Amino acid sequence: MVFLGPPGVGKGTHADILAKDLKITHYSTGDIFREILKSSSPLGEKLEKYVNSGELVPDEIVFETVQEVLSNSESENGWLLDGYPRNKNQAELLDDYLETDGKKLDWAVYLYAPNEVLIKRLINRRVCRDCGAIYNLVNSPPKIDNICDKCGGNLIQREDDNRETIKKRIAIFEKEFEPLKEYYENKGILLKVLAEGNLENIANNIKEGCQIG
Ligand code: AMP
Repeated sequence: MVFLGPPGVGKGTHADILAKDLKITHYSTGDIFREILKSSSPLGEKLEKYVNSGELVPDEIVFETVQEVLSNSESENGWLLDGYPRNKNQAELLDDYLETDGKKLDWAVYLYAPNEVLIKRLINRRVCRDCGAIYNLVNSPPKIDNICDKCGGNLIQREDDNRETIKKRIAIFEKEFEPLKEYYENKGILLKVLAEGNLENIANNIKEGCQIG
């Protein structure tokens, strides 16, 4: 499956919950890119200006990364991609790649919420520098300030989680999303879920929508 939706809608959080439930592997292109940025590699240098400013990384670079990750995947039950695709071209590249392997996507889960909710969530989002766990200072704060409950790592604010970059990321999402949504609607695999309110309810709605459990 793929998880779609604007920044801050909870793709990472819900992808993680569902992947654990289904015992499938969760891949996040954003997380993969942030990991690459930590190493001072030529690819990292290329990615930096896009990722830190909230702009989309060119499709060829993203797809090369996705292809590498999926072809090395050892997940027997399948996988869930979060943050990919971001536009129709990326969706087509993925489908072509899967087709050559006789595979296809089961679901494109689209999470949505009002922009003011997204902005508030992103401003208050903190992530663990070591394990990537996600916190919200208002809704789900860590037990000890700035320390990850899961691994004891330091919590940081993502470089692109500032008001100006957030607005730019939402605008890019809105510009690219309509054709992508139509693409999956036409294939009959788009599942729309409102991602506002209680976390557990949202997770259940996703599971029920995908007829799992
Ligand atoms: P995310 O963690 O999904 O918000 O992604 C963080 C940043 O990584 C984005 O703002 C982009 O710069 C880059 N990125 C992640 N996934 C993609 C993608 N599928 N296409 C282009 N850029 C991406």
